[in-house]
Amino acid sequence: MTTTAATTAPAQASAEIQDGGHVDVLIVGAGVSGIGSAHHLREKFPDRTFVILDAQDNRGGTWWTHQYPGVRSDSDLFTYGYRFKPWRGPSIAAGEEILTYLDEVIDEDDLGQHIRYQHRVTAASWSTDDRQWTVDVTRLDSGEQLRFTTSFLWMCQGYYNHAKPYQPRWEGLDRFKGVVVHPQQWPADLELAGKRVVVIGSGATAATLIPAIAGTAKHVTMLQRSPSYFYAPPTTHELAVTLRALDIPEEWTHEILRRQYIAQTHLLAQMAEDAPGDLHAFLVESMRPLLPEGFDVEKHFTPRYRPWQQRIAIVPDGDLFAALREGTASIVTDTIERFTEHGIRVSSGEEIPADVVVTATGFNMSVFGDVMFTVDSEPVDFTERVTWRGIMISGVPNMAYVFGYFRHSWTLRVDLVCDLVGRLLANMQDKGATMVTPTLRPEDSSMQLRPWSDPENFNPGYVMRSQHILFKQGDREPWTHLLEHQQEVEILPEADLDDGTLSYR
Ligand SMILES: Cc1cc2nc3c(=O)[nH]c(=O)nc-3n(C[C@H](O)[C@H](O)[C@H](O)COP(=O)(O)OP(=O)(O)OC[C@H]3O[C@@H](n4cnc5c(N)ncnc54)[C@H](O)[C@@H]3O)c2cc1C
Repeated sequence: MTTTAATTAPAQASAEIQDGGHVDVLIVGAGVSGIGSAHHLREKFPDRTFVILDAQDNRGGTWWTHQYPGVRSDSDLFTYGYRFKPWRGPSIAAGEEILTYLDEVIDEDDLGQHIRYQHRVTAASWSTDDRQWTVDVTRLDSGEQLRFTTSFLWMCQGYYNHAKPYQPRWEGLDRFKGVVVHPQQWPADLELAGKRVVVIGSGATAATLIPAIAGTAKHVTMLQRSPSYFYAPPTTHELAVTLRALDIPEEWTHEILRRQYIAQTHLLAQMAEDAPGDLHAFLVESMRPLLPEGFDVEKHFTPRYRPWQQRIAIVPDGDLFAALREGTASIVTDTIERFTEHGIRVSSGEEIPADVVVTATGFNMSVFGDVMFTVDSEPVDFTERVTWRGIMISGVPNMAYVFGYFRHSWTLRVDLVCDLVGRLLANMQDKGATMVTPTLRPEDSSMQLRPWSDPENFNPGYVMRSQHILFKQGDREPWTHLLEHQQEVEILPEADLDDGTLSYR
């Protein structure tokens, strides 16, 4: 087996710790969340100093890490784009286009001079006496150790480990003579022409990759253990075409399309709750006419879970189904028994021949970028902590995190969270406080703690594998998270920052 895992070997570490300096706000992560946070920070507090640290060698987070053929959004960009910057392209965008959009934000806000790449944050220690965080950083290019101090830590690290993707250890994998590649570590020079490719997985990544390579490879097989829900909207929304033809300002088009897509997603979410059987039937039946005649829809495209318990994967213009119709791709729904020298044997006894196996098997979730946190010299065990509105953590002062929606566009929540963090910083300023800590009130102390995600509500594999390392939520506000956008758009702007759950000093 040849694996294509990228390695980032830091150069020889120097024992001396360099002083990185002090900033008012230190942002970890230069992805969609970190860049959005920096924009809002600059807008509301133009005088505050800040730095953005990212372990990768470029901006974009997810969109820099994932460079496999065809990589694209499966949200519309009117809601995946920020509230403050109109999206001018088609609804569904390629990874490259999203990076270009982020570059424009970086340029327009002059953020470039504040971003330090190849800076991995390893530890963050809060001192109440000094009212600041000390942040330890390893430079991945030089091995140098740096130490920053900051008054406020803004964690925008995303939810998964960018360097170590999730790849199960299947029996016989080491005897396989072909190439094994994970979409998170796609080699730029991987040649697929004339190759038999097996893509393991049934989610958005598999659905994106397969049509992109089906025309080049000899054949692509999607090997899935169980089916997912798919939906095939057009890449470009008709309403956007109409508005643009009328020469409406792009700001308006952006806002109108945003409202349109938000309403559409709310409708789906509502239907998932009120009439899951109807939504199931609608999604499955909408795929049937796009598939080849006689295709076994029940076996390959009828999921065992309720719609919305996992993301619905988008197949713009039905391109995955077109590849199936044309015969350049096919699907096997079965479990892997083992790898052989020349392919994969599944439980039915069939052996699927493969030159290249793509393991679109998902992520390893990581808690706050695997940074070691201490508060006044006490290590923070996040599994014992409770979230405050999915934005702060009980007992951890002056730290906010940005975590987007899983089922709606991630970025819809970035703007909402940034508004709240802005209000929080202003509230501290008004009070003359230098420290704010989410603190359970006496009436919350016996509150029932719940897992990070209720499996009945949202249960993809990478979340279920990681519940044991994640923090908890409570049974009442403000100790809950993972609410729907339609709830939070009402709750967060009105959230009382003086309700006794935040202690200021
Ligand atoms: C292929 C793919 C497609 C997706 N499509 C969509 C979509 O269409 N719609 C949607 O809503 N969501 C989508 N998602 C989810 C996606 O992750 C989010 O939309 C969003 O990109 C997350 O942005 P982020 O900035 O919060 O985190 P990330 O994009 O994960 O970026 C975090 C950054 O923080 C850095 N970092 C982490 N830890 C440290 C540390 N300790 N020190 C320094 N730097 C650190 C990382 O290097 C990374 O660059 C998709 C995910 C994938 C993988």
